[in-house]
Amino acid sequence: MATAFITHAACMKHDMGGHHPECPERLAAIDDQIIAAGIASHLQHHEAPLATDAQLERAHDPEYIKAIRAVAPKHGLVHLDPDTAMNPASLEAALRAAGAGVLGVDLVMSGESENAFCSIRPPGHHATRNRSMGFCIFNNVAVAALHALEHHGLERVAIVDWDVHHGNGTEDIFSGDARVLMTGIFQHPFYPYSGTDDPAFNMKNVPLPAGSGSKQFREAMEHVCLPALNAFRPQMIFISAGFDAHVEDEMAMLRFVESDYAWATKHLAAIADEYADGRIVAMLEGGYALSALGRSVVQHLTVLAGL
Ligand SMILES: [Zn+2]
Repeated sequence: MATAFITHAACMKHDMGGHHPECPERLAAIDDQIIAAGIASHLQHHEAPLATDAQLERAHDPEYIKAIRAVAPKHGLVHLDPDTAMNPASLEAALRAAGAGVLGVDLVMSGESENAFCSIRPPGHHATRNRSMGFCIFNNVAVAALHALEHHGLERVAIVDWDVHHGNGTEDIFSGDARVLMTGIFQHPFYPYSGTDDPAFNMKNVPLPAGSGSKQFREAMEHVCLPALNAFRPQMIFISAGFDAHVEDEMAMLRFVESDYAWATKHLAAIADEYADGRIVAMLEGGYALSALGRSVVQHLTVLAGL
């Protein structure tokens, strides 16, 4: 068994214009670094399919999906919020970003792949049930997790979100859902300024102050995230894999390094081996310093693929 690497050329065509940090070059930087590191040939490469409306409707209001389809432009840019826009390629990119996670779940459940990494954009974890925000259109990880629960019949799945921003959209979709444990580490106070006020019983959040680095990240994992995962015994682990807490990333003010992502992946893989036959589906979220992003994904993939 191997690690699936799921992406699609359409995800490179979604472009929010100008100098937007959530840019197509992010995926090229990942491709370049996995080639340079010599690991590309060790991965199973797959093209992301389009998510269907039935798959999206598990996480989103049907009216919201209709509205996104209706607003998608034939020319130019349409803004969904001050940070998030669609060009003529964005609808396909968003559907394939969500579809990547669905394929990842199918590959891992069938045993064709041990785990999967979805190198996709737009990211997803800020998208709520009925609202796009923070560069996100559909909540890719939520669509994937619900596919595992409702199509494959799993009873318990966990979502680990180590993006520097709180995954408010994922929390919106799963808050109070006993089938899902969400545990996350993020900078606080910081966009989207959520995740700390009375979260639901299934949300285990660790807000970190600006300036926190490897030590604080690893302590948060060891003291909160990993114990919560061991208590929950997930049948599949999803990772909202944002790499914008890296010290070189100027989007935020945390100071993680790429070896932290390898360390965290190792610990999550051990828990997945214990309870979930190794099943992990990781989905790219943020990460805007292109070299650091590519190097961090290499570290993450090297552990996932057992290289
Ligand atoms: Zn982020």
